[in-house]
Amino acid sequence: MDVPAEPTAEHSVESLHDAILARLLYNIGKTPSRASQRDWYAATALTIRDRIVDVWTSSAARARAQGAKRVAYFSLEFLIGRLMFDAAGNLGMVEMLRNALALEGIDLDHLRTLEPDAALGNGGLGRLAACFMESMATLAIPAFGYGIRYDHGLFRQTITDGWQQEIPEDWLSSGNPWEFQRPELSYRVGFGGSVTGAIEAGRTAFTWNPGETLFAVAFDTPMVGYGGHHANTLRLWSARAADPLALDAFNRGDHVGALTDRVRAEAVSRVLYPGDDSPAGQELRLRQEYFFASASLQDMLRRHLVEHDTVRNLAEFVAIQLNDTHPAIGIAELMRLLLDVHGLEWDEAWRITQGCISYTNHTLLPEALEMWPVLLLERLLPRHMQIIYLLNARHLDTQRAAGADDRLLAGLSLIDEGSGRRVRMGHLAFLGSHSVNGVSALHTDLMRRTIFRDLDAAVGGRIVNRTNGITFRRWLHQTNPGLTRLLVDTLGDRVLRDPMTLTDLMPHAEDAGFRAAFKAQRVPRKQAMARLVAAQLGLVVDPEALFDIQIKRIHEYKRQLLNILHAISQYNAIRAQPTRDWRPRVKFFAGKAAPSYTLAKQIIRLAHDVARVVNSDPTVRGLLQVVFMPNYNVSLAELLIPSADLSEQISTAGMEASGTGNMKLALNGALTIGTMDGANVEICERVGAANMFIFGMSTEEVEARRTSTGFDATATVAACPALRDVVEAMRSGVFSPEEPQRYAALADRLIHSDPFFVCADFDSYDRAQDLVDAKWRDPVAWWRSAVINTANMGWFSSDRTIGEYAAGTWNVKPGL
Ligand SMILES: *Cc1c(COP(=O)(O)O)cnc(C)c1O
Repeated sequence: MDVPAEPTAEHSVESLHDAILARLLYNIGKTPSRASQRDWYAATALTIRDRIVDVWTSSAARARAQGAKRVAYFSLEFLIGRLMFDAAGNLGMVEMLRNALALEGIDLDHLRTLEPDAALGNGGLGRLAACFMESMATLAIPAFGYGIRYDHGLFRQTITDGWQQEIPEDWLSSGNPWEFQRPELSYRVGFGGSVTGAIEAGRTAFTWNPGETLFAVAFDTPMVGYGGHHANTLRLWSARAADPLALDAFNRGDHVGALTDRVRAEAVSRVLYPGDDSPAGQELRLRQEYFFASASLQDMLRRHLVEHDTVRNLAEFVAIQLNDTHPAIGIAELMRLLLDVHGLEWDEAWRITQGCISYTNHTLLPEALEMWPVLLLERLLPRHMQIIYLLNARHLDTQRAAGADDRLLAGLSLIDEGSGRRVRMGHLAFLGSHSVNGVSALHTDLMRRTIFRDLDAAVGGRIVNRTNGITFRRWLHQTNPGLTRLLVDTLGDRVLRDPMTLTDLMPHAEDAGFRAAFKAQRVPRKQAMARLVAAQLGLVVDPEALFDIQIKRIHEYKRQLLNILHAISQYNAIRAQPTRDWRPRVKFFAGKAAPSYTLAKQIIRLAHDVARVVNSDPTVRGLLQVVFMPNYNVSLAELLIPSADLSEQISTAGMEASGTGNMKLALNGALTIGTMDGANVEICERVGAANMFIFGMSTEEVEARRTSTGFDATATVAACPALRDVVEAMRSGVFSPEEPQRYAALADRLIHSDPFFVCADFDSYDRAQDLVDAKWRDPVAWWRSAVINTANMGWFSSDRTIGEYAAGTWNVKPGL
């Protein structure tokens, strides 16, 4: 998918300088002599925003004039990170800004670090939404992102004695220069209460009388695409109480009690739930889901009715994408709005709903499939529960008529009748959508064969694949200007617009001069990372060492443990044969654990304990170092990725839906050590197995082992002396001498009851790591493979992914 060229800049250094000073004076209220660095950042951000607004208003006017179909991307998470370089880069004004600020002695790169990360997401799912917003703007697809403006994003992670501590995050504390509050755009969102029915003109009209109402207020952030031709809106909702204050209580002197209703209502947008892989199970989470789905749908219907005088043609003009099941309650809400508010008949309302909606599945892990108790839904959203029941009855009647037996019907039902009756949100999303997609070829295939097998057989033809992608503007151009410059010098600047032209790099992989240049651009990034490690952790790491990087949320299925076990086995080997020809390696870890996921926190602690022992053992002499970088977020990812030599993508096969961290690292020239899981499979197809280190069981082998051996690895451990020594070391307290039993339970789990098959894949992983070492000793081979990785990653641009959604799912046309 080709993206448009940059326009000739309409701004000059002088005009930007004047604009920044004006913003500083009139928006911040400071003169240059009194301004703090933070003030300069805000003035600069506002100056950039002014330029975006010009694009934004003309984009909106164009979409209106053309009567264009719009995309609404519904996501409970947008993991945006910082916006300044995104916006300035896409407007082509970074260098001019730099020079304009230099006139005042201000350093743009320092200001960059003052912007707080917008961490409104947990991990890959939220980051995907952010990459998609950028690609939709770049391709000039008229689109809204809809989500929640959490007061507090994902917690800040600190580490005390190896143990994760969660500190509330406070990204809005110094204001947010990118957003516009829209107090006039607010919608009522109800909860609880009762439903009444009345016969009107021969049909029963239902009215829901919520027991509780709050308001959703819009905050808009414009998102500009590459080249500055088009900007879309990220519209995030903030909860406001209907009554700001119980005045009578206040006047009686109950100053705190007067605010309780308000605090309760506004809790809905207070904090992002940490954990992207298990339902929080809390009522507040369901309230969040309904809150944003309802406000977003009301907003879309309002806009539609301004432009068209009927809701009947909604599906021709609106495509709603559900990012996972979190917004799936929106299906029942859209039905309610069409039936109860706009007076449509069931069949037509259902046709419109399915016509608008499509759904992206992000996980097959059973514990992560959202299910809400019927009792909770009945209490919180009584009309929606009615609609779900009716929908289910119609669906099951159709299937029974088609010959489904009771057992099959139980599997097809929207309601899980097992342990407490619960609504299967994945089934609801499936039925309410015209298109259901997985996020990598393997994941889509497994989805078809596992969780949605029966539904697909019953109401087939909906499942399609849309392999994830990443925006290259952020994950290559901004993150890695050194490599980007080399690519432009070598291939011309069309590589910035058409990433598929990266394949023209292939002949250069054979060129020693180019390989040297490719290697050279990584050196300053590794040096910078070494400085950061020294500053943050007081540890000296060698920038010449192999940087081996595993960065992602801490989860058993992602198998940071496997990597730690390898560190231990290397440690044992170095001590046993200190004079062998070892090459220095630094193992980097970063990632957060969900606060309630104790085992994941144990893994973080083990990484720290191993780091302490290994890093301070004089026999190791720096040949192996283990580093845990705290508080993983988008900005830390942007620093780590360009410094990586080796990318660890080692999930249990069948468990990682796609992965996008794998794409970022390979694009930047890291070699992947990985299992045949998620998008690794497609990376391998393009990059070639010879340029990766593929190991471990396939999904079929995992499945076969699950049914034959089960989760017991006693025999596997007995057969592998290195592994036995590693697990014994853990169990006996080598890494926790102050508390020898600390990892005994973890070691037992690995041997006897590990559903993630760490031990079963250890030997294969260990051998793949030996191949890594061998290749690292051969710089020609290593850097040749590194170049080939970058050369073949163009397909993983999120522009390609969005092009597929636009043509195949949304039926919208890129605008330029
Ligand atoms: C890309 C990204 C992720 C997703 O990483 P995976 O390795 O695919 O799990 C998570 N968090 C951040 C901050 C990211 O940038």
